[in-house]
Amino acid sequence: MLAQFERYPLTFGPTPIEPLKRLTAHLGGEVEIFAKREDCNSGLAYGGNKLRKLEYIVPDAIKSGADTLVSIGGVQSNHTRMVAAVAAKIGMKCRLIQEAWVPHEDAVYDRVGNILLSRIMGAQTQLVDDGFDIGIRDSWKRALAEVEAEGGKPYAIPAGASVHKYGGLGYVGFAEEVRKQEAEMGLRFDYVVVCTVTGSTHAGMLVGFSADGRARNVIGIDASCTPAQTKAQVLDIAQNTAALVGAGDIVADDVVLNEDYAYPVYGVPSQETVDAIRLSARLEGMITDPVYEGKSMQGMIDLVKKGFFPKGSKVLYAHLGGAPALNGYSYTFRNG
Ligand SMILES: *Cc1c(COP(=O)(O)O)cnc(C)c1O
Repeated sequence: MLAQFERYPLTFGPTPIEPLKRLTAHLGGEVEIFAKREDCNSGLAYGGNKLRKLEYIVPDAIKSGADTLVSIGGVQSNHTRMVAAVAAKIGMKCRLIQEAWVPHEDAVYDRVGNILLSRIMGAQTQLVDDGFDIGIRDSWKRALAEVEAEGGKPYAIPAGASVHKYGGLGYVGFAEEVRKQEAEMGLRFDYVVVCTVTGSTHAGMLVGFSADGRARNVIGIDASCTPAQTKAQVLDIAQNTAALVGAGDIVADDVVLNEDYAYPVYGVPSQETVDAIRLSARLEGMITDPVYEGKSMQGMIDLVKKGFFPKGSKVLYAHLGGAPALNGYSYTFRNG
């Protein structure tokens, strides 16, 4: 579906799929759990899901003649770290708006982890006071205007690289890649579990997996805590992406978004999320974060325990990255 679109390689290539044998056994062994390691997809500043999206956005940025990538996220945004890395890699400047999306208890929250890495990579980071919202923001529009006023040429990349005309393409490619790997491995995944916030990861997967009738087997675990807005954004991006690649239409019922694990609020882990982070770390040495992957890990574990996946199912956990944010949560894990 993607042959007609230009792609600027930022990743190593197909990401590995590995069985999580100890987690599978711990949960009773009736549902087989695998992880697709999007968190290990690149040498660019620890990688993650945003790079797959940015591979289809960068050619447009270069063609536009821009000299500055401008983007937005929370203080500990993985996405803005990825934009900073890409700007360095392609020789552009980078301006990042970092909003106060998360109430936090670590004194060094705005000095470590993702924002630290972005600063090291030369991005100009601007902390602003606005709260969580996955939509288009005024502070971002102001940043674009400022770059222009200073004589630069900005290229706008929205939060999560999601509401961009090419934002959904990367994860269409993910589905195509999984199909190839399934053929090589001689198996077929019954479900894909994915963390969903700004929506284009889930949306791209919907379009990609709709090709073999598995759109509704993509189980989104909401981590935004604003699920109505997230669900609407997933549907919108999926429909636009389907039209763009010439796939069949996506309807509202195709968007399966579980809202049960995002509590108490975006960016703040519940006790159960922290437990899930510890469990997958201690059984598999696999690190998940308190904002995103810890919540989808919690959701997957709970759904296995509840019998949501029929006996004998093969479940693919999409590990989308995000570990650098853990540095902003040292207080939570001060005793392990
Ligand atoms: C951005 C991000 C997500 C959510 O992906 P969306 O496309 O914004 O829904 C999940 N996990 C990690 C680690 C992320 O950085």
